[in-house]
Amino acid sequence: MLFFALDKQWVITYWNNMAEELMKRPRNTVLGQNIWELNEGAFDTEVQMQYQHVMETGEAAHFETYSLSVQKWLDVSIYPATNGLTVYLKDNSERKNAQILAGETLEEKNTILESIGDAFFAVDKNWTVTYWNNMAEKVLYKPKEEMLGQNLWVVFADSVESESYKKYHEAVATNEAMHFEDFFAPLGKWYEISAYPSGSGLSVYFKDVTERKVSDTQLKELNNSLKLQTKELATSNAELEQFAYVASHDLQEPLRMITSFLTQIEKKYNNKLDEKGRQYINFAVDGAKRMRQIILDLLEFSRVGSIEDGAEDINLGKLIGDVSALYRKQIEEKNATIVFNNLPVITSYKGPVRQIFQNLISNSLKYCNVKARPEIDISCKDIGGSWLFAVKDNGLGIEPQYFDKIFVIFQRLHNKDEYSGTGMGLAIAKKIVENLGGTIWVESEKGLGSTFYFTILKVRI
Ligand code: ADP
Repeated sequence: MLFFALDKQWVITYWNNMAEELMKRPRNTVLGQNIWELNEGAFDTEVQMQYQHVMETGEAAHFETYSLSVQKWLDVSIYPATNGLTVYLKDNSERKNAQILAGETLEEKNTILESIGDAFFAVDKNWTVTYWNNMAEKVLYKPKEEMLGQNLWVVFADSVESESYKKYHEAVATNEAMHFEDFFAPLGKWYEISAYPSGSGLSVYFKDVTERKVSDTQLKELNNSLKLQTKELATSNAELEQFAYVASHDLQEPLRMITSFLTQIEKKYNNKLDEKGRQYINFAVDGAKRMRQIILDLLEFSRVGSIEDGAEDINLGKLIGDVSALYRKQIEEKNATIVFNNLPVITSYKGPVRQIFQNLISNSLKYCNVKARPEIDISCKDIGGSWLFAVKDNGLGIEPQYFDKIFVIFQRLHNKDEYSGTGMGLAIAKKIVENLGGTIWVESEKGLGSTFYFTILKVRI
């Protein structure tokens, strides 16, 4: 310990070894000197006042000071003596520096805890709140001053037995971190909470996730109602298809009877019938034929998607060739050309794909422009996940207001006397395309021609 003595005139009368060492002043240079003359810088300072006070009152003084001359923190004890003062000094730098460092670390920690986006609080082992950051004030609507030093469960008495209460206790009991979500009824809010046990108690980070939770719940509800609707739709669709199938199937039988008896009448009573009678029978036979076609188309429509042989590699060039062969007579009569180059081999369902092309090609041939030789151009483009097909003709064309209508069953823009048909061809094509995960649409200009586009997913989902 450093020790020196002063007389009543502030003259140094004793200076021990440690004083020599620490103050870096040999004894012979200080003994007999006035301390304030030696340390001019210290004169008239807080330190000097302390010395003065002891000298005047005879009361000992203890304080801590930083010595600029030796650059150390010192613990100073000044005692009155008969001749003046005795002074003990202790180098306190190590402890003081550690204290400063701890203070800085604490300050740093506090800065972090205040700046994190999460709300944070800490409690000691008795659930007394020891930290409550700014965000916690905002999120839980409790100011720091009301919380520090308070028992958490006294302030939040409503939360005793809550999920948070249980999880915090579990974290402390198991010494393991807990992550969970909890609803705090008094504020009507959801929190995402992480609780970390520590030697001194529990640290809790949490954030308000009410918005996310509410939209999550709404999304779930929406999803559920959507699922239910889809199920209902699938059921009613299946029922409708079943009905269309049964109705068209069963209608064929009486229709066959009507047609066959009409033919009998025509044969047997031909000479007994006058011209009008024969004409009526012709009308009736014609009507029955059309009805048969409608029934067959309806049957076809109701069957789309229900019978599938499985996907296979389809050479589209060959498929179009087959379809063209089917319409050879019409093509020759109308002197039509069907152009298709570099069509790919796709993996899909052959029957349905053929049906789409057949319906579109037959329409292009049917609704051709009498003034021009029919030209049908079929092309295909790879658009990533799907193939995009185009069937282009130079036929009658369609007015824009009918672009959607023509895909609805039984919707026709021409009557039966002009062009035969039931109005089912495009509806069937649409249903098949949609079944193959695609869409179908038309672009057209009245009088110039139409292009029917459709896509087919490369891989069916
Ligand atoms: P349908 O040919 O039996 O009438 P569709 O469903 O195939 O039935 O076609 C519906 C209507 O769309 C047709 O009546 C016709 O008016 C129009 N249409 C279809 N294809 C073409 C085309 N390529 N050019 C002009 N009009 C067309």
